[in-house]
Amino acid sequence: MLGAIIGDIVGSRFEFNNTSDFDFELFAPACDFTDDTICTVAVADAALNGKPYKETMLEWCRKYPHPMGSYGGSFARWIHSANAEPYNSFGNGSAMRVGAIGWLFDTEEEVLSQAKLSAEITHNHPEGIKGAQAVALAVYLARKGETKEAVLERMRDYYPTFTTPRLGANPFNETCQGTLPICLGIIDKANDFEEALRYAIAVGGDSDTIGAIVGAIAEAIWGIPEAIKAEALTYLPTDIMYIYDQFVEKTAKK
Ligand SMILES: [Mg+2]
Repeated sequence: MLGAIIGDIVGSRFEFNNTSDFDFELFAPACDFTDDTICTVAVADAALNGKPYKETMLEWCRKYPHPMGSYGGSFARWIHSANAEPYNSFGNGSAMRVGAIGWLFDTEEEVLSQAKLSAEITHNHPEGIKGAQAVALAVYLARKGETKEAVLERMRDYYPTFTTPRLGANPFNETCQGTLPICLGIIDKANDFEEALRYAIAVGGDSDTIGAIVGAIAEAIWGIPEAIKAEALTYLPTDIMYIYDQFVEKTAKK
């Protein structure tokens, strides 16, 4: 969960101002958490506290109506509509918010079914659901001790071809099917959390969301260096910290 939040914060200042510099400063005054963090926290809150995904997502997003980078157009309309029905999205939003589910449920079947539930409140297109299930499963398998290679092998059932990361070469793409292959290619190429995070941003494209997806998977594979963790937490307000602390307490025993 914190891996996704870190990727979001680190990528926030590059979403609309890409960098291809691998050695960029991870944290800068211009960084903030964005929609990816808010939605990740909403999914975690629902899963931790047995609350419905839809109402919990609406509650968090309405509480934070103007995050840095703002919400995607269709999602913003969904947040403010009276009945908030799913809109057949295959945007990468279903995949960027799902990480906590891989930690909070303890069988593959449950992880996949909860990922689907979390996605289909908005992203009920098959590619939207698939993106969420793939990320949640990758997190689950890694935190259960599977090797990176074994996790990626399972991911080929979802995305047979990964994209090899090249600095500055990734086009802006907000779909699951356009985002997951580069995220998995980054995990394949990287050797630790920070390297994965740097690739996630320096390839270009939808930086904060690639950061969030790569960060979620990288956390489960390698863990997060303490210095990066400590710096990231300084960006979070108390209500998000409250959910984060709940999450840490719950997953510490796993
Ligand atoms: Mg964002």
